[in-house]
Amino acid sequence: MEKTPLLPLPEGMLIDQIQITDNGLVIAVVATHPTSCCPLCSDTSSSVHSHYRRVLRDAPCAGRRVQLVLTVRKFYCRNAYCPRKVFTERLPAFVEPWARMTIRHCQQLTSIGLATCGKGGAKLAAHFGIQTTRQSILRRIMALPNVLTGSVLYLGIDDFAFRRGHWFGTILVNLESHRVVDLLPDRQADTAARWMRHHPDITVVSRDGGSEYASAASKGAPQAIQVSDRFHVCKNLTGATQLLLARCQAEIVAASETQESNQGKPTDQVISLAPWRPLEPASVEKARLTRRAGRYARYQQMVQLRRQGMKTKEIAQRLAMSERTVRDWLKHSTFPETKQRRKRQSSFDAFAPHILQRWQDGERNGSALWREREANRATAARSERSTATWRRSSRRK
Ligand SMILES: [Zn+2]
Repeated sequence: MEKTPLLPLPEGMLIDQIQITDNGLVIAVVATHPTSCCPLCSDTSSSVHSHYRRVLRDAPCAGRRVQLVLTVRKFYCRNAYCPRKVFTERLPAFVEPWARMTIRHCQQLTSIGLATCGKGGAKLAAHFGIQTTRQSILRRIMALPNVLTGSVLYLGIDDFAFRRGHWFGTILVNLESHRVVDLLPDRQADTAARWMRHHPDITVVSRDGGSEYASAASKGAPQAIQVSDRFHVCKNLTGATQLLLARCQAEIVAASETQESNQGKPTDQVISLAPWRPLEPASVEKARLTRRAGRYARYQQMVQLRRQGMKTKEIAQRLAMSERTVRDWLKHSTFPETKQRRKRQSSFDAFAPHILQRWQDGERNGSALWREREANRATAARSERSTATWRRSSRRK
């Protein structure tokens, strides 16, 4: 038997044998402490009842798995008033009763899980010679004792998915300690408001732009200032900047086109039909410009990647676009604008040239223009009827 500083063991435990196998190290350990305490009455006993073996996983040694084969004992409890007659030897701070791994190995898994996640933790653990599963890592994290929330001054609130697309909850974060303080089973305003009422210290609530958490903060923490969280501020700013830049771009292009078309032309220009059309609603224009900004950004990325010598297929994969689109876009040396859809025909279109002409002549009386339009329509209908009659009579002859 040897006492080794290489494998620290609790007092009274000695290494009996070390075996090197294909799967790692198998270390036989025996407990030699002459007495043990009854877990129920805490009386010390030296009467050994029997011996038995426990197989435990321990922290790996230089990348090798370590299996401990522990020979421990059962003791008689000699306290006449204690209902426990026989008890197993306890090894506190080394292994929990009935556990299949040592406490230090369990702590390793918990640390890996806390630093990564279930799946990532299992992958990382494999590199260290630890065989485990993501469920096992998650169980260790779930088994950690709850940290008392204490006072929360700056609260961050947002929704998260227990199951993506199906079941959403609310996550509450202490923005000073950057720790999750609680999870709520749904994202209802009332549930969050109830939680906030139990934390009257809250002075700032950082939230998304939705109405639920705004209402929760107003009801549950009316004393607190509500602010937009950094993620949503950045998101809104990005959207607004894209829109602004897209609008500038559109205006610059439109201005340069107008300047070019005006050069060398008489000032008395003909009004086109376009101004007579109803204006595009602001929301539609906004959406169009945002889409254009996105397209433009992708086009620039595409040009950049091509300059780096990337092939069409690789660019398509990188930008999640079809190869055909990449080829089409790169064929032109400038950004390919989306073709504007043709607008629907209007009943006014037939009369537009006449009305435009009259407008240019200086007629600004709407009623007069309308009467002229009606007169024109009647004349057109009359001439159509006359033509039809003439056609019929000429066929009879
Ligand atoms: Zn006892």
